Amino acid sequence: MLFRKLVGVIIILITSIVSLNRIFLPVDNQEDKNLFSTSNVIQDIQVISKEPHSVEHPQERSRVREYLYVRLAECGADPVVFYYDSVESYKKKRITIGNVYGVLEPAGKKASSYVMLIAHLDSRFTNLVKGKEQLSLGAADDGYGLGVILELIRISRLYQKQWSQGIKILFTDSEEYGLDGIKHAYSFDKHIFDKVGLIINFEARGVKGPAVLFETSVNNKKVIELYKHSKKPTAFSLTSAVYSILPNYTDFSVLKEDFPGMNFSVVDNLNYYHTAKDNIENISGRSIQHYGVQTQEIVKEYLVNKKYSSPDYLLSDSNVVYFSIPYLGIIVLSNLLYFSLNIFILVIFLIITLFYVKQSRIRLVNILKITGVNTLYIIVTSIALYFVSRFFSQTNGLEYKLISLAYVDEEYPVLILSLGTSVVFFRWLYAKHMNSSKATLPEYMASGILVLMLLSAITLFLAGDSTLFFVSLLCGVLSYVSLLFKYSKFISLLGLIVTLLYLIPLLYLLYVALAFGSLPIINALVLFFVWTLFPTFSAFTGTYD
Ligand SMILES: [Zn+2]
Repeated sequence: MLFRKLVGVIIILITSIVSLNRIFLPVDNQEDKNLFSTSNVIQDIQVISKEPHSVEHPQERSRVREYLYVRLAECGADPVVFYYDSVESYKKKRITIGNVYGVLEPAGKKASSYVMLIAHLDSRFTNLVKGKEQLSLGAADDGYGLGVILELIRISRLYQKQWSQGIKILFTDSEEYGLDGIKHAYSFDKHIFDKVGLIINFEARGVKGPAVLFETSVNNKKVIELYKHSKKPTAFSLTSAVYSILPNYTDFSVLKEDFPGMNFSVVDNLNYYHTAKDNIENISGRSIQHYGVQTQEIVKEYLVNKKYSSPDYLLSDSNVVYFSIPYLGIIVLSNLLYFSLNIFILVIFLIITLFYVKQSRIRLVNILKITGVNTLYIIVTSIALYFVSRFFSQTNGLEYKLISLAYVDEEYPVLILSLGTSVVFFRWLYAKHMNSSKATLPEYMASGILVLMLLSAITLFLAGDSTLFFVSLLCGVLSYVSLLFKYSKFISLLGLIVTLLYLIPLLYLLYVALAFGSLPIINALVLFFVWTLFPTFSAFTGTYD
């Protein structure tokens, strides 16, 4: 048993490391000129991020605009700059903004539909952080987007003879100030969106980590079908569902009701976002490569396959459920299939529970007792961590907010210590349940699964997506059923690995997206998940301690 425990711990550690570590992200390819190359993107970012180029910097912004114009001209995209006198004048001063637009046609003809690639050319204007004025250099936000698009064009042109469709490029101005550039383009020069059948927007709300497909247009069934061509997919219908309820502000917001599309962004390290730390020193080669590797096949499929020749092809009347697991790829399910699977899980759970009750391996009163004690523990620790989070926001001179509370200096030590303590005591409570109160493994598992089912139903009702809990539920119920069989320990171990592989990067992503103020939420989520993972682990090791 001690041996199995040791093996279990080692496997958990390895799974955690490989899921969190960025080794599943691609690295630069410098040898094969036919492949996306980060080094080319970095060369562009070096020029773009030389100096702040926000709405407060007309000259510097002009230089970036001219550079992009020249680069597009080099690519044969016949660039045009559309200038506007901004109506939403910045700080009551009228400013001129200018979007750069270009088109690439298939060899020898005009296309009947286009993929439009969008990134914004301005950097963030003065941002007050802890009383200090900060100016971003826009290396990531949105140097990543601009550079990646230019590189995508380079590699796409290598097979231009095979294109059936064309590319439109739109580098928008003044995105940071009220999405001014895209709004002007869409109001006054709508013709540039003619025959656009797919939009890909590139953003950067941070500097590192995977480039996530965090948002799609509504009714995304066919868009996701196209996305499945992607290598190294990182996408969750969960984030798209959440984004559809929250107000959000990227260029894509203006277009997502009218065009099929995808919105990509890195989300790690909000502390650098919109500050002077968004500079060339802090960019991540692996993130850049991930934007490229992920989108190049989508662009290629769209350009080459004749079925996209109608701009309406990607329109659909339904959404799909999807999530990606590092190393395993993306799983896409229709709403009906997803719903049926959930019902199936519920039915199996009920049947097995009845069976366990008959066998006297489960007493309902014990399930209630475990559920009561654990829920209380989760509520108490989350309230405590809410105050911890408030305390540290205060010592950092920041106003507490639940979402997007960035720039807390002690963030990671406090996070690790808080969650660590919280989980260790929860584990101690588990051993207590199992040893002194004589609860059984099926009882403990059943309580955890019931809570996950409840959470799943609530999030489905509130956000329209419950995939956050799906993998845990599936593996939890599998492990619950397997307790009937001789080889249960191996099924439990497999379930544990898959669950961790899915959950660890997703919870990390949620944390960095929501930031330090969300500490109580992340704590509650982690505890809800380990609730079924503790007995699953015991099913493998055969011990409760
Ligand atoms: Zn941006």
